[in-house]
Amino acid sequence: MDTIFHKIIRRELPADIVYEDDDIIAFRDIAPQAPVHVLFVPKTDLATLNDLQASQAEVVGRLAFAAARYAKEQGFAEDGYRIVMNCNDDGGQTVFQIHLHLLAGAPLGRFGTPA
Ligand code: AMP
Repeated sequence: MDTIFHKIIRRELPADIVYEDDDIIAFRDIAPQAPVHVLFVPKTDLATLNDLQASQAEVVGRLAFAAARYAKEQGFAEDGYRIVMNCNDDGGQTVFQIHLHLLAGAPLGRFGTPA
């Protein structure tokens, strides 16, 4: 599988990387929707959340844990934040390697209004 995010993982595309370990990379979204907008991406190939198998459930747990840890380290965990995973067309997914959006840095308003 090859997406923009795979190219970032392979360092074939530049990104503002804020965290990386053996399983995850996190970098700033190129079109931020909030003062803080970081994408957490697993290195396991998974196009959409629909492809996640029960044996892989920890992949998503790792993304959420990494996002929460980043929020604490950056000092905005207590103020709060939002995590979002978009799936397919109605969810607004545009890059088909699963990823978790971390949005923070200001009150984010109501969530879930249809486009
Ligand atoms: P989604 O719409 O949930 O698939 O999210 C994809 C996100 O990737 C969008 O918020 C884009 O702004 C972001 N994005 C696309 N290309 C890049 C890139 N080269 N570097 C960082 N973020 C990107």
